[in-house]
Order: sequence, then structure tokens, then C-alpha cells
Amino acid sequence: MTLSFDPDSLLLPKGHFIGGKLIEARGELPIERPSDAKAYWDCPVADAGIVDQAVDTARRALKESGWASLRPRARTKTMQRWADLIEQEAVTLARMEAVCSTRPVAHLIAGDIAVTAEQIRFFAEFADKEGSDLVPTDGGSLGMIMTEPYGVVGAITPWNFPLSMAGWKLGPALAAGNAVVLKPSEMTPFSTLYLAELAVRAGVPAGLVNIVLGDGQTTGNAITGHPDIAKVSFTGSTGAGSAIMANIARTGVKPMTLELGGKSPQLVFADADLDLAAGAIATSLLANAGQACVAGSRLIVEARVANALAESIISKLATFRPGPTWDECTDYPPIISERQIGRMDSIVRATTDQGAECLTGGKRLDSEGYFYAPTLITGVTATSPAVLEEIFGPVLTIQTFEEEEEALSLADHPTYGLAAGLFTRDLSRAIRVTRHLQAGTVWVNRYGRSRDHILPTGGYKQSGIGKDLGREAYLANRKSKSVLVSL
Ligand code: NAD
Repeated sequence: MTLSFDPDSLLLPKGHFIGGKLIEARGELPIERPSDAKAYWDCPVADAGIVDQAVDTARRALKESGWASLRPRARTKTMQRWADLIEQEAVTLARMEAVCSTRPVAHLIAGDIAVTAEQIRFFAEFADKEGSDLVPTDGGSLGMIMTEPYGVVGAITPWNFPLSMAGWKLGPALAAGNAVVLKPSEMTPFSTLYLAELAVRAGVPAGLVNIVLGDGQTTGNAITGHPDIAKVSFTGSTGAGSAIMANIARTGVKPMTLELGGKSPQLVFADADLDLAAGAIATSLLANAGQACVAGSRLIVEARVANALAESIISKLATFRPGPTWDECTDYPPIISERQIGRMDSIVRATTDQGAECLTGGKRLDSEGYFYAPTLITGVTATSPAVLEEIFGPVLTIQTFEEEEEALSLADHPTYGLAAGLFTRDLSRAIRVTRHLQAGTVWVNRYGRSRDHILPTGGYKQSGIGKDLGREAYLANRKSKSVLVSL
């Protein structure tokens, strides 16, 4: 069976998903398909009243279903059925996501959807394994740290990996006994809506997973400022993250997890396996056309191997095939929007205007969609716009060093600390450099996540607060109560 499809003939869920039902709504925000720049839908914007309705539904569903106090294994089993259904419906989910996003349909099947199902199973297993603790106190008392779900969690996700980001939020929140009101990006809502429908089909009580569509200004603010949302879990840009912090500070204090932007370095030492490094760097640069929070967009390479490495990367980039996301042969997708491709281009130009040089790329591809040529920029400094700003596209800057200390100083970004990569055959150096890197994740002799969902992800500096994935993400969806009993 071919995965390719006709984007005009796809049936899509359109509306908010509240209480287990799709609720139609008037469209307000025009959306274009990035692969062919065709306008095809107006996304509705949930106002405070609709968000209220979703939160109220979530609270009632929690109470009536007893989800938080079920035998924990029952939550595990229900979520495992949900993961099974996600795999069974993989093609439908993949097409619903590919039509509006930058994710190629074949990548969705091989990657995002399989990973989302795995992660839901991973978190489901915590429900009956992670409990409260008895802690040492004096002999006349009994000390316990009890954990409990928050209640209704508010989640907000970005457009770059819509399904897996929704999985990151829904998996741990539900396993931990919460209900969720989630707002996907206004540009990529369909796969998240269908994911919620599958949850209900799998037996997750209707009303525990509610999806409201809309923008950040109206819908996002209504979620983060809602008095009955007990915790906020956000993935998106650092700018939106700080606006959310401000809104939460204004409307009432509540815990939040913020997974934000990055500008991650990849350090290559002269003793590294250069072919392996070039392959990892090229793949990480072009995965989702650089539209990944952890994109390794700053190459910091030992001077004497810089030219050889750049040539090798350029030759590997040429093997990626651009095309629309609905073609199963595509492995190089478009940029999400006209606004984003224009912004990227202006950062590249501002950098070359200051004297830097594009070794390859530096321009849009000739296409009806929003495609940008893979771009390598050399001759940059630590203050070049392309080095400082999160571009969120297939743009790699190259800086060189002579000494390890210089490499570490170049790697240290003033704003971001999400991830870092490091290529060397010297084990001592690998450990030494890892200890100094200011990043929430470090990859050695590879670049990018594996399927080890136990490894949490999160940022240093302004790349975020708290963790997604791992045990940490489950625990972040439960609050703790210290109990001391006098015997
Ligand atoms: P964005 O910040 O523009 O939007 C993300 C989501 O937040 C969207 O649903 C948007 O509608 C909503 N939003 C925007 N302003 C808001 C506000 N004031 N209040 C509430 N909600 C608001 O980000 P984007 O362009 O969708 O995604 C790209 C960004 O996400 C990049 O910066 C990328 O690094 C980051 N990201 C981070 C991670 C991570 O794990 N750290 C993962 C994926 C993406």
C-alpha cells in the first residue's frame, strides 16, 4: 500500500474535542499547507467560554470516572489499548498530520507515530509502579511522602512535531491520574484531534482528554490563566514561554513545565570519525528541515579538519530529496509558513551582510511551497545573527577552534542550553567536555534522540524549566504531600 495521498481528498476532524465529542466551530484563522502554499482551512479560536467548558468537562469527568483512584493497573491497561489503536490507525494519523505540517508521511509512520505509541506505553507503566515513599524519621513517628495527581492539567504544543509533542503531554498526565485540556498549534490541529478520539475509543473516559483549538493570545492565555487548571505544561518558543510565565504570575501562581527554544552546538574534534560526524550533522540539520528544538545548528570544529568536514556534510546533504509531505518518497520537507521562511532568509542575509559566506544554500528553492536550500555559513562570529538566533530551519553556522577550552567557550550560548553534540574518539575528553557543556542533553558520537524514553529532556538557561520524558515527566504530573504520623 502506498502512503502517498491526495491532500484535497482527505477527511479531517474539524472543531474542538470536548467531552468525547467533536464540536464544530466557526473558523477564524486561515491556514496554508506548507508543501504547496495553498490555503485550505480556517482554524476556530476557542474563547474563554469554550476553555471554561473544556475545563469544567475535565473536572466532572475526573470525578465521575474515578480515573485517579482506579486500581492503577486499570489506567495502565486502558492506555496500552490506546497505544495499540494509535499503531492500528497509523496511516490515518500520519496523513492527518502530513497534510498541514512539515512532517513527511513516511517519516511519521517510521518515526513519530511509532514513538508516540511507545511513549504512551512507557508512561502507562508508571501508573502501577511509581508510588509514595516511606521516609526515615525518629522511632516515635512514621514519615511518608504521598503523591497525588494535580487534577486538570493545561497543555500547549507547537507545530513542529504535533503528535509526539501531544504524546509527551498526554502520556504522563493521564498515567499520573489527571485530566487534560490541550491546545495544539493552530497550524497543525488534526492529528491531535484524532489522537484524542482514539483515546476515547480505547476506553479513556470521555472528558479526560479535551482538545481546544485556537491561538496563543486568546485560547492559550485562557488556558494558562484558568483558575481550575492546576498545572501548565508547555512546549514552544522561549518568547511564548516567558509570556506564559507572565500570565501565570498575573492570574495566580501554579506549577509549570516549559520546554523552550534552543541553539545547540555540535563540537567536532580532529580525532573524531569524521564520516560518522558528517552523517549525524547532515541528518540532524535536515530532519524536519531544521525545525526541531534540538537542531544542532552551530558546528564548532577543530580548525585543521574544518574544510574536510564541511565538504563531507555538503555531499551528504545532496542525498536528501525535497518534496511535498504527502509524497512517500520525500525526506526533505518544507518550512512551515511564509512568515517563517521570510524570517529565516532575513537572518541569513543579515549574517552575510556582516561578511559571512554561504558555502552552500542561502536561498529559497524554486517551488510552489516553502522550501529552503540547506545552508552552511562560514566566517561567522559569536555575535552574528545566525549564531545568536534560533533560526528553526536548515541553516548551520561553522566556527573553528584550536584548543578544547576555546571550543567550550564557543559552545556556551548566552541564551539557550537545550542540547549539545560532541564527536571524539578520546573517552576522557568526551567526559571532560560533557561535564562543562551547559545543556540539558549531551549526545556523544551521535546527534538526536534514541527510543530510550527513560532519558528526560529539558533545557538549561532559557531553554526551559522542568523535564518531559523520563520518570521526571511522570513525577511532574503529581504533587507531593509530606505526612508525619505520631505513633
Ligand atoms: P510558539 O511558541 O510560537 O507556539 C507554541 C504553542 O504555544 C502554539 O500552540 C501557540 O499557539 C502557543 N502560544 C503562543 N503564544 C502563547 C501564549 N502567549 N500563551 C499561550 N500559548 C501560546 O512555537 P512554535 O513556533 O509553534 O514552535 C517552535 C518553537 O518550539 C521553537 O522555539 C522550538 O525550539 C520550540 N520547541 C521546543 C521543544 C523542546 O522540547 N524544548 C520541542 C519542540 C519545539
